[in-house]
Amino acid sequence: MVRRAVRTADREAEINRARQDFLDALPVAAAVVCLDGDGTRVQVANDGYGALSRAGHGPSFIEASGLPARIAAFLRAQTAESVFEVDDGQGVAPRVFSVRMTRMRAWPALGARALVTLLERTAEVETEKSLRAEMVRDSLTGLANRTAFNEAVEAVLDDPAFQPGSHAVLVLDITRFSRVNECVGALAGDELLLTFARRLCSAVRAHDLLARTGGNEFALLMRLDRGLEEALSAAERIRAALGAPFRLSELEIRVDCAMGCALLGGGETLAAEVLRNAQFALKRAKGSGRVRIYEPKQARAARRRFSIETALRRAIEAGELRLAFQPIIALGTGAVAGFEALSRWDRGEEGEISPGEFIPVAEESGLIVPLGRWALETALATLAGWDRAAGRVLPLTVNVNLSPIQVVQDDVAAFAASALARHGLAGERLTLELTESAIIRDPPMAMKVIETLKAFGVRVAVDDFGTGYTSLAYLQRLPIDVLKIDRSFVSGMVDDEDSVAIVRAILSLSAALGMETTAEGIDTPKLASALKALGCSHGQGFHFAAPLSAADALDYWLARRA
Ligand code: C2E
Ligand code: MG
Ligand code: MG
Repeated sequence: MVRRAVRTADREAEINRARQDFLDALPVAAAVVCLDGDGTRVQVANDGYGALSRAGHGPSFIEASGLPARIAAFLRAQTAESVFEVDDGQGVAPRVFSVRMTRMRAWPALGARALVTLLERTAEVETEKSLRAEMVRDSLTGLANRTAFNEAVEAVLDDPAFQPGSHAVLVLDITRFSRVNECVGALAGDELLLTFARRLCSAVRAHDLLARTGGNEFALLMRLDRGLEEALSAAERIRAALGAPFRLSELEIRVDCAMGCALLGGGETLAAEVLRNAQFALKRAKGSGRVRIYEPKQARAARRRFSIETALRRAIEAGELRLAFQPIIALGTGAVAGFEALSRWDRGEEGEISPGEFIPVAEESGLIVPLGRWALETALATLAGWDRAAGRVLPLTVNVNLSPIQVVQDDVAAFAASALARHGLAGERLTLELTESAIIRDPPMAMKVIETLKAFGVRVAVDDFGTGYTSLAYLQRLPIDVLKIDRSFVSGMVDDEDSVAIVRAILSLSAALGMETTAEGIDTPKLASALKALGCSHGQGFHFAAPLSAADALDYWLARRA
């Protein structure tokens, strides 16, 4: 018995030595590890593994890398093999090993075991890292390059905690850089870029990423805690830093830069898109010398509406709006029957802005009330002025547009009556143009206003007729004098049979109701004669005249007087 036990012990020692020999022969750190209670136990290991298990100043590599826990998890699971990389988490230059765990046959007496091998990859990882660093670095300035920049933007966009508007990209380039380059030579051009980059670095915050994204284009990725203001103040800082002249060997030159900015989170999913948006803003900034912000369409439209509203309020107060007068022609005789007064607004540097754009803003903001009063007052004043200039009451009327909002918010009838009285004009000289929507919005109200106006002799026209939904019942009940056939049907008559049929129907409807008709948008002689032949009483359009200044309008009438 005793001899057998001794022999068994010898055999085991022998087996262990054989195992040890196997492991020692391996060119990598290796160990056979088994489960032991909650943790693991190394049954046998070679020198390489032993060295990694020894603690030095700090914990051993095996401990620091958290390997025992991963081995235990592997042994408890059923996986046959697992390969992964571990490091000791030592900051910038960690030791890195590739680990392979292979499940060994689980002999009943031995339990779950795994052969764990570790192959050092520190050098390769370092090389990869420095290669990558080269790949994402601009060799001239040492800044991040476009690849690195896009990766950083993508990381922000991909972060699940990302909030739209929390980051911005600012792009800037040196104005006329290619000219500078040509004049001073490529070497000095490089020097300029280098100095430029250095100044930029000094102007940006440490946690923002500055990159050279093109020849003379730089980009800054910023985190914004206080919104757009922060991006604008960064732009200011940059401008200040670049303000002083640049000294290039013997030369001293001043450079100017344009900046464009885009907020992240306008629905873009790709970094390249963000950069493109900022570049788009940059393009628009060129020449203006200011930083431009790229905004998604809706935001831009809202801002524009707001800026129009502010400027319009000022323009009304300052009397900067004008009226243009478009002749209305009696198609039967070719005589001028009157003029439609149309508001015009010249914003100076920003150019003319069409009523199609500012009237809706005025309606939205309530500014339509003062604007409408001004238009009515001015149109009547102009008509009275023409009478005075001619020394008699001219056979002319003036049409003024009325917004549905005015009908609801203002006492239009009372104001019209007082304005007529102020200018000594009979009610018949004025036609107010209401759109169908003004009638539909509040029919009893519209009815009341129209009836009061009629009591003063004021005429009422329905503008853009055919585009709304006026019911025939209202049309019949309301004392309307004129239907203005919308331009879309008139211009459609050229090549659309349906439009001709609609125009015909409107004409017979108005004839049946005893109303006049004015066709809008007559811009060819052919349309003028077609409408005349169909029995349309009046016409208006570029064929006769575009809207004219008050003086030109009077001249127009004088020249065509029968
Ligand atoms: P609207 O009252 O239907 O005025 C006719 C519009 O058609 C004018 O545009 C006029 O310039 C344009 N027009 C005239 N003949 C032709 C033509 O042959 N071809 C083409 N393509 N267009 C022609 P405008 O002046 O831009 O006014 C647009 C609209 O703005 C007006 O449409 C009117 O609804 C509104 N609006 C203008 N001034 C005022 C105002 O003082 N008060 C109010 N409430 N609305 C106004
Ligand atoms: Mg009109
Ligand atoms: Mg119209």
